[in-house]
Amino acid sequence: MVPEEQEASAGGAGSATAPESASVVVVGAGPAGLTLANLLLAEGIDCVVVEAESREFIEQLPRAGFLEEWAVRALERRGLAGPALLGAPAQGDCEFRMGGARHLFRYGALSGHRHIVYPQQYLVTDLVRAYADGAGGDIRFGARDVAVHGIRTERPSVTWTDPETGRVRTVACDFVAGCDGARGSSRSAIPEGGVEVFRHDLGVGWLALLAEAPPSAERVVFGLHPQGFAAHMARSPQITRYYLECPQGDSPDNWPHERVWSELRTRLAAHGADPVNEGEVIERRVLDMHNYVVEPMTYGRLHLAGDAAHLVAPVAAKGMNLALNDALLLADAFRAYYREGDESGLEGYSDACLRRVWQYQDFNRWVSEIVHGPSCGDPFRAGVAAARLRRMTRSERAGRAVAALYIGSDADH
Ligand SMILES: Cc1cc2nc3c(=O)[nH]c(=O)nc-3n(C[C@H](O)[C@H](O)[C@H](O)COP(=O)(O)OP(=O)(O)OC[C@H]3O[C@@H](n4cnc5c(N)ncnc54)[C@H](O)[C@@H]3O)c2cc1C
Repeated sequence: MVPEEQEASAGGAGSATAPESASVVVVGAGPAGLTLANLLLAEGIDCVVVEAESREFIEQLPRAGFLEEWAVRALERRGLAGPALLGAPAQGDCEFRMGGARHLFRYGALSGHRHIVYPQQYLVTDLVRAYADGAGGDIRFGARDVAVHGIRTERPSVTWTDPETGRVRTVACDFVAGCDGARGSSRSAIPEGGVEVFRHDLGVGWLALLAEAPPSAERVVFGLHPQGFAAHMARSPQITRYYLECPQGDSPDNWPHERVWSELRTRLAAHGADPVNEGEVIERRVLDMHNYVVEPMTYGRLHLAGDAAHLVAPVAAKGMNLALNDALLLADAFRAYYREGDESGLEGYSDACLRRVWQYQDFNRWVSEIVHGPSCGDPFRAGVAAARLRRMTRSERAGRAVAALYIGSDADH
């Protein structure tokens, strides 16, 4: 018996309870899983969401903050954009600083679309509320040892250990949606060779910081500096996200308060720019910047969505938007399957998602060359970075092309 066909057995101290059933089990309550679960429930498709963390934890985890306008409109059309999201500030400009000069990139005016600034934890909170409190959806928090079984059979299942009773729970289903992020367990149900994973390492780390400091500029600022890249992004009137390029695997402990602010001041400096507003650093962690794509995103009755299927380093703010795109497409495919018996959406799900995924990966790599070129130590790459920046900020035609990729559109859907 191959591992994915083994039935769950009670593990550890707990004994198994009688299996439950649902049409779809969604593993992971991030933006992808929660969007999908809400849309399934709205279609009358019964589902269970199994989440490893507590509700409090996921509602407070700060990560992304920039939603592309098409994604917000798509959520709005499906009744999933509340007043806070619809009233959130929009941004259509960003600024590159290099060699003391400031280069404004008006991608909103060039593309006709903008980013909506809405911290990921707010979106997650809205979606949990809509699903669990509003629609009475079934969600199991704090699930331990989550495992997916039988994905090559017609009746897969998901097991986990209940955090309160220690008992092993089983839900049998028609399909599993693996929405459990880059470190989840659903992908490991796919046997060796079942899918391919294409990886690309950007070769740098980013120190991701959240500071209790009001934004120092009205827009996103990218500092291109020989000492390393830096970025400034508003999250709220009181909170700002900053990034500092650092070696991969660096320890956040190497970045005490003084060093953080001194590097931000240096790397974001430019003639006429406002000084960087300083404040207490409330989150400090190092991200190794790498990307991957799993192809195909479907194996048997397991459909992957979001970071479980593809990781895009946060160079151009793409990951959450891709996660939402997957969820929307998967929800459409399930609706066609359950309403009309039409399997073509599920069969074409992976290809449909991957079109946008590869486009965003390409853009991520292109931007990465600009922001990391000046600090990479290779004068040739630094020259290429400067040429790209000149072209996109001085040529309207080139600027339009870059703006369209930066902000995405329904056409990529
Ligand atoms: C610092 C940072 C900044 C970012 N900025 C941006 C940005 O500005 N714009 C943007 O678009 N993207 C950004 N991203 C990327 C974005 O956060 C991710 O792409 C997004 O969270 C993906 O959503 P998801 O639902 O696929 O996965 P996740 O958000 O990772 O959700 C997965 C869920 O599954 C749960 N889980 C994990 N393992 C298991 C398991 N075994 N069983 C059950 N549940 C499990 C997790 O607890 C989590 O709740 C950023 C990322 C980081 C780290």
